[in-house]
Amino acid sequence: MDIFDKELPKKYEYCSVDYLFNKNTHSESLIMSFSDDDGKEQEQHYILKDASPGDALMTILDYNTKDEDSTLRAYDQLKKLADILPVKQADSSEDLLKLYEAYKPSDVNRVVDETYSIIRSAVELSPMMITILPDVYNIFSGLYYCVRRKKYLKLFIPSISHNLNRIGEFIEFFPEVYTKAREFCENVFLVDDLFKYKVDPNDIYEQYELYCSHSSIDNYLNTPVMPSSKKMKMKDSDLEQFIGDSDWTSFYSFVCKPEVSYYGEEYEETSIFTIEDLIVDEIRNMLVCKYVFRRCDLCGGYFKTRFFTVQECCTRPYKKFNVPCNEYVSRRYYKKRTAEHPLHNAYTKAYNRLYGRIRRGTVPADTPLSPQLMELHDAYTKLYDNADDDKKNDVVKEFIEKANELLG
Ligand SMILES: [Zn+2]
Repeated sequence: MDIFDKELPKKYEYCSVDYLFNKNTHSESLIMSFSDDDGKEQEQHYILKDASPGDALMTILDYNTKDEDSTLRAYDQLKKLADILPVKQADSSEDLLKLYEAYKPSDVNRVVDETYSIIRSAVELSPMMITILPDVYNIFSGLYYCVRRKKYLKLFIPSISHNLNRIGEFIEFFPEVYTKAREFCENVFLVDDLFKYKVDPNDIYEQYELYCSHSSIDNYLNTPVMPSSKKMKMKDSDLEQFIGDSDWTSFYSFVCKPEVSYYGEEYEETSIFTIEDLIVDEIRNMLVCKYVFRRCDLCGGYFKTRFFTVQECCTRPYKKFNVPCNEYVSRRYYKKRTAEHPLHNAYTKAYNRLYGRIRRGTVPADTPLSPQLMELHDAYTKLYDNADDDKKNDVVKEFIEKANELLG
């Protein structure tokens, strides 16, 4: 589906649009609610993206690309909406009425074209800009409806004004929201060494301190996504119960007190109204799933992983090598490890002797001795790795003897 299809708001005149975020699958969708020809309430879902927990946050905070610049460029694009949509007149019903009463269908088409082309290019640079779309849809479907039935325009003005206000807020506060969100995530989720290994209660305390000392806590974890969501508050006395825990499962379950959905427990989707809502929801899910962000040891990019894993590198392709960073590093590590292996040194010496003969022409280049020596090396490497420490030297000695016998 093309979400920038001009026919959509026309087709569903007059409908309301929500941006939904599925708590379990993390898929994002647009849902349009409208009345059909018989006046029956209908809903139409459009899936925008399937994603796993933390993905939206990765995208929102550019952790996938490390490219802050593209978000700022997307924001510059989106700011242009303020010239096309009358966000400054949002609070004046009279101004809005006067403006839209003069609209012809061709005017609506023009505004839709201009708006879509701006949002489309902003979304290409930064996918989170899509959160502005439901407000835009709501305005357009109202306008398409009213441009043919001018007498109803007055009824729609409060709703249009509400949507315009939200677009205005997005444009005005985006840099602030974005900066705060990045800071918060870097402090809470970007973990370099702390959680690579089993978590100590002191670490839990440190992490708790991070939560509390960082001012953004009030703006995120204490901010209800839905009106009925529980607020998370932590006091020192709350912390005491976690001291002595060997992992931080209970700490997490405390931090992530179950949300009571606006629609009741059964409802697994959340309506997202702002980027802040999306961030709050994603943060909760990061905590529930025990995800953290780490900086890749190789390329320096961010990646998402469980806090208890030892993964040090990301899975993005490394430079021109067409292999993911983590694979590149493990291959390099394997090479290094084999190069340091005492048996490898003994093998190299034996091979050099054989190679000298091949070079001098006393042994043919395709001599079976070469694969035989390799087989011997592999067999003795296994013996060496499995031998007790005080027997390892004997294994190397035996390998040297066997290699000498083989090469004569
Ligand atoms: Zn990497």
